[in-house]
Amino acid sequence: MKNDQRKVVLVGCGMVGMSYAYALLNQNLCDELVLIDLDKKRAEGEAMDLNHGLAFSGTSMKIYAGAYTDCNDADIVVICAGVAQKPGESRLALLQRNTAVFKSIVDPIVGSGFHGLFLVATNPVDIMTRVTCALSGFAPNRVLGTGTALDTARLRYLLGEYFQVDPRNIHAYVMGEHGDSEFVPWSQALLATKPVLELCKESPQTYCREDLDRIEQEVRTAAYKIIEAKKATYYGIGMALARITRAIFGNENSVLTVSARMSGAYEQLKVFAGAPCIVNRSGVQRVLALNLTPEELQAFHHSCETLDENYRGINL
Ligand code: NAD
Repeated sequence: MKNDQRKVVLVGCGMVGMSYAYALLNQNLCDELVLIDLDKKRAEGEAMDLNHGLAFSGTSMKIYAGAYTDCNDADIVVICAGVAQKPGESRLALLQRNTAVFKSIVDPIVGSGFHGLFLVATNPVDIMTRVTCALSGFAPNRVLGTGTALDTARLRYLLGEYFQVDPRNIHAYVMGEHGDSEFVPWSQALLATKPVLELCKESPQTYCREDLDRIEQEVRTAAYKIIEAKKATYYGIGMALARITRAIFGNENSVLTVSARMSGAYEQLKVFAGAPCIVNRSGVQRVLALNLTPEELQAFHHSCETLDENYRGINL
């Protein structure tokens, strides 16, 4: 990856893609942003619109609608193209439709000579990330998905409210599939350095495990609720993508629950799932192996099995 010019190619200029682009512009996260969409006119219009905001942004970002050949010297290709989840539709039901879309995207990107990182947001994100890895033939560390990064942010926000503490001082993760089988390993959830389960034991009148379970359920169903209310979710995921981009360009070694290939961690091989990972300029530097309880490990295995079954059902 070049250090001087940070170039991002965004494929899919819908609500998620453009929320990400808007966050990139406002946070000055790259120097060059290329927009690609099946609907070329839309990509052109979005580029114009963002460019008109440049004067207010304090950046001199180069933004334009481009083509797959522009991926040649890009650092990150972010894929947000696909079909949005319909009300009540499970993420896994989107799978086959989005796989066809990915075939038409990944091939020309690889053909351009692209040698950066793939970052995927399209749902079902864990499977689409694995599909991207398989179609591209890239080393797994160079292909990551947003995974449970957004779910983890939702969890930290809700726990912050519950304990009346800044979410940045809550260290807790959502793991597994970004979807129905995701779970919170509560044994690993901390307020500063204090386990939240200990807080429940110490102050049972104020805090209890039932409330934590309710919060976990709220996180798991948040997307469904938002979709019911406003048809799609996009600001949160746009900011999650921006956060991951910052960790990559800044070579931050930040811990983020991205979707990464499990290469032995949690006794899982091949499957892509959300787990705390060290993210830096090389992509997923490593997956962190937390000390899960046997029940939590079982929940992770169950989530991975669901993902693997669905992946194996695809005709790539
Ligand atoms: P959208 O319909 O607004 O945008 C999708 C865009 O993809 C459209 O502009 C469409 O023209 C484009 N597109 C479709 N096929 C294409 C192709 N072959 N090549 C290039 N572009 C193509 O949808 P959205 O709301 O932006 O959602 C995009 C994806 O993000 C969906 O799969 C959605 O489920 C997912 N999503 C993921 C998360 C997460 O946490 N990972 C959160 C929200 C949404």
